[in-house]
Amino acid sequence: MTKTIGFLGLGHMGGPMAANLVRAGYDVLAYDPVPASQEQARSDGATVVDTAAAAAANRDVVITMLPNGKLVLDVYAELLPAAAPGTLFLDCSTIDVADAKAAAALAVTAGHRPLDAPVSGGVAGATAGTLTFMVGGTAADFADAGDVLAVMGAKVVHCGESGVGQAAKICNNMLLGISMIGLSEALVLGERLGLSHQSFFDVVSTASGQSWALTSYCPVPGPVPTSPANNDYQPGFATALMSKDLTLAANALQANGIDGQLGALAAAIYARFNQTDAGRDFSAIVTDIRDRSAETDR
Ligand code: NAD
Repeated sequence: MTKTIGFLGLGHMGGPMAANLVRAGYDVLAYDPVPASQEQARSDGATVVDTAAAAAANRDVVITMLPNGKLVLDVYAELLPAAAPGTLFLDCSTIDVADAKAAAALAVTAGHRPLDAPVSGGVAGATAGTLTFMVGGTAADFADAGDVLAVMGAKVVHCGESGVGQAAKICNNMLLGISMIGLSEALVLGERLGLSHQSFFDVVSTASGQSWALTSYCPVPGPVPTSPANNDYQPGFATALMSKDLTLAANALQANGIDGQLGALAAAIYARFNQTDAGRDFSAIVTDIRDRSAETDR
């Protein structure tokens, strides 16, 4: 069993993920430049070190949970030379497929074993240890990461070679963004036509327009009491993160010559909403559609 872990990026997601590893008995060296995150990691039982490189030395596994691909590549430049040959590098950040492939290539060149392993499940899943991991890399490295991933997640899927875990993540979130916009447009149209939210829900949740966005994350208060709409659109999944993921998806559509018109449009719609509402849950897009529709009231 893997025993020693270096963990970089102790934010909303990485903090609780590292805490779960400590709780499961792993020896965790942790690094984050933010003092509050360091303090939390210390109280969770991790050993906090002063530099990124120090977190990677003599570890079986090095995990990164960082905001973007540029940072992952920058941090890898410090980590890769510091790690013992053959270290398993697990990047759980959501980043561009091209950046994930570049990071993996650098790790292989340095003699290490890279996996991209982005997650779904949010802070609640990170805290409960019930994340879904979408993993890209070799089958042997995936098997070796199994015990560590099982501590942090409830479902772990090997999606293919390096970068394909990130591909799964952006495909899923592109579809989620598109479906949330489509659902919100339908809800606002229903409002205008005199259809109550509950009647909309009762019909559509069992009809052909059914979606996870409606049945688990309904963007209007009432039908799904646990959805962020019932809590003044506190995230949940912040608009800033959805906008980031849709930008990654739109870039991938373009880079790969896909005629993905809805993906590009969803990215543009959330980029605009992000300018004013970055900190609200992404399902609040329904309020934006409603407000804009009111401007064109008959
Ligand atoms: P966050 O901003 O809360 O945490 C990122 C952490 O990285 C911060 O604590 C920051 O100080 C740290 N950091 C910055 N530079 C560093 C460096 N050089 N070395 C070590 N640490 C450094 O972000 P988050 O919400 O935890 O998200 C992390 C990743 O997970 C992102 O890629 C995000 O897209 C993805 N993600 C987030 C969610 C979510 O619900 N928050 C869900 C799924 C995926």
